Amino acid sequence: MTRLLIHGGSVFDSISGTVAAADVVVEGDRIVAVGPGLDGDEALDASGTTVFPGFIDCHVHFMADGQLDPMVDVRTPFSANFYLAAERMGRTLATGITTVREAGGSDLGVKTAQQQGLAPGPDMQISITILSQTGGHGDSWEPCGAHMPHLLAAHPGRPHNIVDGPEEMRRKVRELIRAGADVIKVCTSGGVLSPRDDPRHGHFRDDELSTLVSEANAAGRWVMAHAQATDGIKSAIRAGIRSIEHGIYMDDEAIEMMLAKGTYLVPTLVAPQGVLDARDRGVNVPDYAIEKTKMVIDVHRESIRKAIAAGVKVAMGTDAGVVPHGQNLRELELMVGCGMTPAQAFVATTRTAAELMGLHHDRGVVAEGRRADLVLLAGDPNDASGLRERVRTVIQAGRVVAENA
Ligand SMILES: [Zn+2]
Repeated sequence: MTRLLIHGGSVFDSISGTVAAADVVVEGDRIVAVGPGLDGDEALDASGTTVFPGFIDCHVHFMADGQLDPMVDVRTPFSANFYLAAERMGRTLATGITTVREAGGSDLGVKTAQQQGLAPGPDMQISITILSQTGGHGDSWEPCGAHMPHLLAAHPGRPHNIVDGPEEMRRKVRELIRAGADVIKVCTSGGVLSPRDDPRHGHFRDDELSTLVSEANAAGRWVMAHAQATDGIKSAIRAGIRSIEHGIYMDDEAIEMMLAKGTYLVPTLVAPQGVLDARDRGVNVPDYAIEKTKMVIDVHRESIRKAIAAGVKVAMGTDAGVVPHGQNLRELELMVGCGMTPAQAFVATTRTAAELMGLHHDRGVVAEGRRADLVLLAGDPNDASGLRERVRTVIQAGRVVAENA
């Protein structure tokens, strides 16, 4: 088998968070050696760059792309959404994201298209839809009484997403697993980009959440919670949900509970910023979304800052789809703004993200035996700014999938 030698650069060690000069040798889809002075059959010059493990984004939505104007969904032909998703997947891969957790929208066909090479993109774990109570963040009901088409609209590959009560929850989790869900996504609070719910209110009661988690775990699946309200964050942690997404209103007790339970936090700091960016570039963002974004953006950052300082396990996730795809690496700059060192932000985007997804034996570290998902990043490895422009080469499963000038 051909040995690809990546030489002349440095390697980021996502265990220690340090960088050292080293070569990397790839055979097939595996890393077979890391160290100084290696040889190979084909050479890839890595001088001036640092070799990172492929980046992992634990929260994306390929069925949206930062449009945020509900009328865009109304005017998009149903099946066009799948072709649009394919382009977004390619854009994400080119930015160095080789694995994602799809947090609602993409179904088993989208995942299959990527796996079969029909649509290049990051490997994905999919949640398919987002479980929501009546009137919750995922409810498509509008004040006029109509249901808007949006990234969660039911179709043969994507079960209806509104559930109330433990028994409905039990059936729904089973439907999702039948449809191919790798992870179950639930909203344990209201959210920002939805008309009739409040991000400060907890959603679902303990009996519903414990049924959800026990059904998911029985099928070997974890649960991820859109959790913004203090109450919804705590009920998710109590129920044994694996990761808190967004975590806007975390108080000290919630942070203590996360530390005690080992719950992961996926901050998605770039999402509220993306809503304001969209308004600034002239997108017709609904007023309620702007108002709620303004209400949460500062308290969100403060909450994430406290959690980072307390040592909560943080995995990188962006909510890309709220922001256009391909800007994922902006999140690292915002994590640094909330108190992480650049090295900690890179660990969150590699090793910790792989741990959250249960992929840490295969990904997230540049080491012998791991899958050859690699990013060659130019510039200072202790600087997490301007990352998109610094991504030189992206390797996924041993193949060069993107080269940027
Ligand atoms: Zn999301």
